[in-house]
Amino acid sequence: MRIVMFGPPGSGKGTYASRLTSLLGIPHISTGDMVREEIRAQTEIGKIIKDYSDKGKLVPDEIIVNLLMRRLNEPDAKRGFILDGFPRTMRQAETLEETSGVDLAINLNVPDDVIIQRLSNRLVCKRCGAIYNKLTLKPKIDEICDICGGELYQRDDDKPEVIQERLNVYRRSTEPLIEYYRKKGLLRDISCNNLMTPPEEIVEKIMSVIQEEFG
Ligand code: AMP
Repeated sequence: MRIVMFGPPGSGKGTYASRLTSLLGIPHISTGDMVREEIRAQTEIGKIIKDYSDKGKLVPDEIIVNLLMRRLNEPDAKRGFILDGFPRTMRQAETLEETSGVDLAINLNVPDDVIIQRLSNRLVCKRCGAIYNKLTLKPKIDEICDICGGELYQRDDDKPEVIQERLNVYRRSTEPLIEYYRKKGLLRDISCNNLMTPPEEIVEKIMSVIQEEFG
């Protein structure tokens, strides 16, 4: 089962994908997490891509494709995957098509005001990457991860000036891919118009689409 998740930054891709992983038994692969890990570990690649990520710009295709291919070659990804944040350009979509292919593309439709509210209130665990929200998905203890006890922080690119640029980049470079997958008959739309909708409700909607497609 090879699934890709589309949706603007802050549409909940990461939150839903990490829940789907435990329901479906296939890995959640987030290129954004991979980018942040390279930067954190100060690798050669990390030093090159930091500036793109900090400004909300896309990392060059060759770099991100190499990172992803390395990950897709690991044994756990052989049975399938849920991709979150990839593909983001036509070139990335074509490379994915040539290498592993896609069975289903989920498109999360979320209005801009919900996105902005969600991103500016998002907190992420430094240790395990779990995602929280100051309004809708609060940790039990302030600034501490419920799952691993790690410290919660605000991503550098969740600051207001970068959020708008990330939304622009999404509209310009990534939205055209939605039509690419729609034409292939692989795209299914899921709407989420309300900031307060609990993640379980959206995950349930996605699971029913998956059940329709895969039986
Ligand atoms: P995300 O967590 O998916 O919002 O990604 C954070 C940042 O990582 C993005 O703003 C980009 O700078 C970079 N990034 C992640 N995935 C990709 C991709 N598929 N193509 C180019 N850049 C990416």
